[in-house]
Amino acid sequence: MEPSEPPAGGVVQPSFFGAAAVDAGGQASRGMPSADAVTGRATRHGAAELSDPTTALAALHGACGACCRCGLALGRQQVVVSRGNPAASLMVIGEGPGAQEDASGSPFVGRAGQLLDQMFASVAIDTRQDAYICNVVKCRPPDNRKPTPEEMAACLPWLLQQIELVQPKVLVLAGATAMEGVLGLKGGITKLRGQWRQWRGLWCLPIFHPSYLLRNPSRERGTPKWLTWQDLQDVRRRLNQLEAGSPQLEAGGASAGASAPTSPVAGSAAQVSAD
Ligand code: SF4
Repeated sequence: MEPSEPPAGGVVQPSFFGAAAVDAGGQASRGMPSADAVTGRATRHGAAELSDPTTALAALHGACGACCRCGLALGRQQVVVSRGNPAASLMVIGEGPGAQEDASGSPFVGRAGQLLDQMFASVAIDTRQDAYICNVVKCRPPDNRKPTPEEMAACLPWLLQQIELVQPKVLVLAGATAMEGVLGLKGGITKLRGQWRQWRGLWCLPIFHPSYLLRNPSRERGTPKWLTWQDLQDVRRRLNQLEAGSPQLEAGGASAGASAPTSPVAGSAAQVSAD
């Protein structure tokens, strides 16, 4: 399918392939408070101890904001926990905060974040209402370097708690680092993007990171941007099918078959608690 074709099952939006401004608004909220609404409401309790997801997410934001589990705490301005809708069926996980995210306290707010929003809007997914967005590490690595395995491991309990509390149906892993941090798969994003996997009962799809797409702007067939368009249409289809109650993709709906769960992380997210 060419980039100009409409996404399956979705409303045609101005594509991130084009230069037109994107209106990603207008879709109905599911009535839950935004992630921003709970940011900074600190509590002395660990997030997993609290039964109400909204209260627990507020606790998580507060506790995460005081985290010093790894050395990234030393250079941060702010801990960057999430943005979007904590009641969303879709969770998008990136690598870590950059300079603008560190300054604002919100993930994916720079050029890459704008492209991310446009990418999803092109398949009728409003990232403000239809997605919960976070990163593998919550503090900015110096000079925007890739977080180390130790830093990702230190921060993983926060991510697991976010997944446990938000209970998304689909995870989109933006970039190789997110794929490594969640699935334990190193490298090979070019090979593994677009391949659905099941992890902890969730559907996961690695895609190219929008920063990579900014460096590779061609929209020609077979380019990273074109491939990402295919992947996002698959995400739209998957969400449509899950919302319709079907756990299976339609024939030809996925770009690759789902694999067995591949988590390198033992235990349940529910068993991981904050400090
Ligand atoms: S990156 Fe994660 S583990 Fe490290 S200090 Fe920040 S919140 Fe804590």
